[in-house]
Amino acid sequence: MAELEGLEFGKSDFVLLDEVTMEQFMDNLKLRFEKGRIYTYIGEVVVSVNPYRQMDIYGRDTIDAYRGRELYENPPHLYAVSDAAYKAMKRRAKDTCIVISGESGAGKTEASKYIMQYIAAITNPSQRAEVESVKNVLLKSNCVLEAFGNAKTNRNDNSSRFGHINNYLLEKVRGGGLLRGGSDELLESFHLQNDPSVYAYTKEGAATTTSNNDRSSHKAVMSALDVIGFTQEEINSIYQILATILLLGNVQFESDGESVQIVGLETVNHIAELTATDPESVSKSLLYRTVATGGGEVIEKGHTEQQACFGRDAFAKALYERLFGWIVGRINSVIEVKDYNPVLHGKNTVIGVLDIYGFEIFDNNSFEQFCINYCNEKLQQLFIELILRQEQGEYNREGITWQHIDYFNNQIIVDLVEQPHKGIISILDEACLTVGNVTDTVCLDSMDTKLAQHPHYTSRKLSPTDKTMDFQKHFRIRHYAGDVTYSVEGFLDKNKDLLFQDFKRLMYNSANPVLKEMWPDGQLSITEVTKRPLTAATLFKNSIVALVDKLACKEPYYVRCIKPNEMKSPVAYLGLLENVMVRRAGFAYRQHYARFLQRYKMTCEYTWPNHLMASDREAVEAIVTQHGFQDDVAYGHTKLFVRTPRSLYTLEQERAAL
Ligand code: ATP
Ligand code: MG
Repeated sequence: MAELEGLEFGKSDFVLLDEVTMEQFMDNLKLRFEKGRIYTYIGEVVVSVNPYRQMDIYGRDTIDAYRGRELYENPPHLYAVSDAAYKAMKRRAKDTCIVISGESGAGKTEASKYIMQYIAAITNPSQRAEVESVKNVLLKSNCVLEAFGNAKTNRNDNSSRFGHINNYLLEKVRGGGLLRGGSDELLESFHLQNDPSVYAYTKEGAATTTSNNDRSSHKAVMSALDVIGFTQEEINSIYQILATILLLGNVQFESDGESVQIVGLETVNHIAELTATDPESVSKSLLYRTVATGGGEVIEKGHTEQQACFGRDAFAKALYERLFGWIVGRINSVIEVKDYNPVLHGKNTVIGVLDIYGFEIFDNNSFEQFCINYCNEKLQQLFIELILRQEQGEYNREGITWQHIDYFNNQIIVDLVEQPHKGIISILDEACLTVGNVTDTVCLDSMDTKLAQHPHYTSRKLSPTDKTMDFQKHFRIRHYAGDVTYSVEGFLDKNKDLLFQDFKRLMYNSANPVLKEMWPDGQLSITEVTKRPLTAATLFKNSIVALVDKLACKEPYYVRCIKPNEMKSPVAYLGLLENVMVRRAGFAYRQHYARFLQRYKMTCEYTWPNHLMASDREAVEAIVTQHGFQDDVAYGHTKLFVRTPRSLYTLEQERAAL
């Protein structure tokens, strides 16, 4: 609970609103933001509004002011929850995790940097040297991961598309810009030209000149890779892979009606050289796929031109994803071998900082939004569950009777997506496994049939009068945050693992050990892989379930980020009103007896200037009784619990009037 700053700054904790309505919530958020207060609590949750300007609130003095203090002793700040997480880890040997969520550009990555900076700053000086070196690795990692993992979205130039430090979903091939910053000689040695417009994958949106930005970010990433401990051989391999990806995009096919050929073999030769394989094998993997027949016979089947193009793009994408995954893995291993660091403290206690993409609702929502929004449903569910658990824990500790809290449980939406056999992911997977011409539309039909009764699912066919959807294309999910209409177009392709085993084998047989290491599954023989690979949605689901399991046993702290120009919808997306309601369903306000007295003793004749009672608790009882809200409170072992904020504001007004 935040210290009650002057009310001219609005209420520093949303649980103190007179009524929990969107209007009051927004008014308070806006008022605080206008007064330069970008942080507000909901209990122990920090709501942060992106100021888009440098604020003078992260310096050394501020760090000192928050160090070792309780949440309510200072105005709301990231440092206060960082400190709470740190204390939980130190004093109670608890694993903690700070979950930072919000939409693109809302300030998640910035927040995670401030949190890491705070934790590094307050760590014991005797361990400072080690901490500094790990902090260095972490900050450098950020730079590397940003160069590789960030996809430019139209909302945020510096958008993170990785969860710290697990990668969950990658949208676009990047890294082209990284190469661009390299010198001409360097590029030449990788058979590249310093002109992104000649490469199919980087053509779009390519500025033809290399900006100083590219050069300096190239330099920064190179030095970061070095600091993190990548060997020259590894750095070289990273370049080779990035170059391979760009060259792959330029491989073209032609068909004479009978068979498909590669146009011009120079590119193939370069790819073979860069990947330490031979040109014949490269060509073969681009043109044929090996399949096992029902009788156990192994045959080679030529691609159609279209299949060859699909295969090539899937290969390029997979190269990129594996490279990224490998870099993340290397960084994690560098961090974990240390005995001590600010993220992994001691043996098992951990402070994890998780920066994860928020709810997304665009004009056109596709498979990616479907995955991201499902992830947010899962996190929301965990969030509400853990907050309830925290509340229950506090009531137990204080000896206060727990009362049932009614809240919307989004399990039903989670089930809609992930339930075996009946959920959307299962229906998608089934469609992907079906041989023959299953299209996105057929898949939508199947969803309509199986989910017609589901209260959170609809489509044009199920609600024919709803002209906002197309018969062939759209379905709509009623998420906890609101309705989202998805276009089913491309769902099947995106869900399938289009990567032919032949590419995996090609890479596994590379003479470059770094590349080989990234493709262990290339080892399997064709008869061993007849089992279908897991689909993208199922892989994603598995990683989210694993993440949620990991978080569930930690003590979580939350930072909810919002953009200032469009505050209202994120408040809904993030379920913030829900949060306030859960938090104050029992008691909106709680305070240690001594602190309560300190603030309000002047409002009661028995306690001013000092009370003569046996305990602070009795003195607090005197204040409460004098103001007539004894029916609105409960007395815990160490704290006073107040049900409605109004009682407290009576006191505040009286205090102000004195
Ligand atoms: P994405 O999901 O796309 O990765 P994000 O939530 O990580 O987005 P950030 O990159 O952290 O967004 O923030 C976007 C920009 O907003 C930053 O580059 C910075 O300019 C500004 N910003 C965010 N937080 C702050 C802050 N606390 N103070 C000043 N500027 C900020
Ligand atoms: Mg980010």
